[in-house]
Amino acid sequence: MADNQKDAGFATNAVHGGQSPDPTTLSRAAPIYRTSSFVFKSAEHAANLFALKEFGNIYSRLGNPTNEVLENRVTALEGGAASVAVSSGTSAIFYTIITIAKAGDEIVSAAGLYGGTYTMFDAILPDMGIETRWADARDPASFEQAITDKTKLLYLETIGNPVLDFADVAAVSKIAKKHKLPLVVDGTFTTPYLFRAIEHGADIVINSLTKWMGGHGTAIGGIVTDAGTFDWTDPKFVQFTRPDKNYHGLRWALDLPPELAKIAFALRFRTVPLRNLGACLSPDNAWLFLQGLETLHVRMPRHCENALAAARFLKDHPKVSWVRYPGLESDPSYATASKYLKKGFGGMVVFGVKGGREAGQKFIESLSLFSHLANVGDAKSLALHPASTSHSQLSDEQQKEGGLSPDLVRLSIGIESIEDILADLEGALGKA
Ligand SMILES: *Cc1c(COP(=O)(O)O)cnc(C)c1O
Repeated sequence: MADNQKDAGFATNAVHGGQSPDPTTLSRAAPIYRTSSFVFKSAEHAANLFALKEFGNIYSRLGNPTNEVLENRVTALEGGAASVAVSSGTSAIFYTIITIAKAGDEIVSAAGLYGGTYTMFDAILPDMGIETRWADARDPASFEQAITDKTKLLYLETIGNPVLDFADVAAVSKIAKKHKLPLVVDGTFTTPYLFRAIEHGADIVINSLTKWMGGHGTAIGGIVTDAGTFDWTDPKFVQFTRPDKNYHGLRWALDLPPELAKIAFALRFRTVPLRNLGACLSPDNAWLFLQGLETLHVRMPRHCENALAAARFLKDHPKVSWVRYPGLESDPSYATASKYLKKGFGGMVVFGVKGGREAGQKFIESLSLFSHLANVGDAKSLALHPASTSHSQLSDEQQKEGGLSPDLVRLSIGIESIEDILADLEGALGKA
């Protein structure tokens, strides 16, 4: 099986994408290249690598052969043109923004975001001179209303925090195209197994590998995939059209041959922020993510099936005041989600326990199969009370704005036996 067969099925790419047996050692599994640096064949070879005239390994902060297998596999799974792996989903998001926007620019983002991303957009980027204008994931027109002549990109999450709203991605993409702006989609909660954002008009897809793609709660990592579709030659994208002093005066959108200009975003991401700010992924962690990806298509259906059963169980429970799961027919996001999600609605369920904040905390303390922790997307079932933990740095006002109520409990449903998951929920609700 040759690597990266464009027409191979999703499951085949999950297992083989980006990798063939190692030509030197004939190792079947992807080797972990635990090395910081790679020897140049000659002075000319070294010069060509640095000038992007030839691709090859230089130094593991810039790229590593184990990471490259991961990058090519995710490119195949997302249906993109190039990917770059980094040390966390968070750094993938930050480096994406600063690859495209600089002081004086604005971005437009859905307000319902992962807590860390919200803080980055709301507090850190403004300190660096990049302002965020907020939109509502449920209302595509709100993205258009927030666009100004300083806007450099539109941003949303496929299943948004905290109440799992699903944005009409194609409608937002239409607005992005009309205004010649790239659409950046954080697809962590869906993974390419459930939703391939590029097929619906995303130009850049970000995944936190830490969650379902890795799938076992064993490592932190992130990856960005360039669809290769966005035209960066508009002069408003100065980082792509002006001589870049970060890379000996190269104009990324204008000076490269077409096949490289097409992936100008991925190249600038790797060569400017990753190279000079340094949040590189270790090859050991890249290898763990490769193991996880091999079973993504086997795990996701079980996550979805268990989450739907848990959502239905909670919906009918007398101690539960409300439940949100995009796969419940009664859910406000069902109409949009079911238009896009044909294989399942993800592994997250959120709900409110009657009795508010205190009952919510008591519920979480009474769980035994579920672990009380801050991660999601593990094979193991997890639970969290965001208002007092992951989102506690937000004001009550901001929490409310983002749809986060004080009684909200967030469940990441694992792939255990559903009877045991439901029994644990039932037992803890009894004590709440
Ligand atoms: C976890 C997560 C992130 C951040 O990823 P890390 O790998 O933890 O840095 C970003 N977006 C979403 C939707 C996430 O769930």
